Amino acid sequence: MGFFDLFKTKEHDQFDDKGNILCPKCHSNDVIEIIYGLPSDELVKESRQGKFALGGCCVDESNPNWECSICHTRF
Ligand SMILES: [Zn+2]
Repeated sequence: MGFFDLFKTKEHDQFDDKGNILCPKCHSNDVIEIIYGLPSDELVKESRQGKFALGGCCVDESNPNWECSICHTRF
């Protein structure tokens, strides 16, 4: 049980056969989590390494959970 397992994915999310989430536009599995809220220093450091994206502090129902590293679609 890792940190990211705590996040619930949306029902329409697509996955490949290894369980990696897929970009709905280019179908790449090079997709990173978008983290909302005020990030810790550790989160900022890891986001700069491309492990995930920072979505800012304003969160609402329509905010995307994922960002494609290839085409930068957020979904
Ligand atoms: Zn994409």
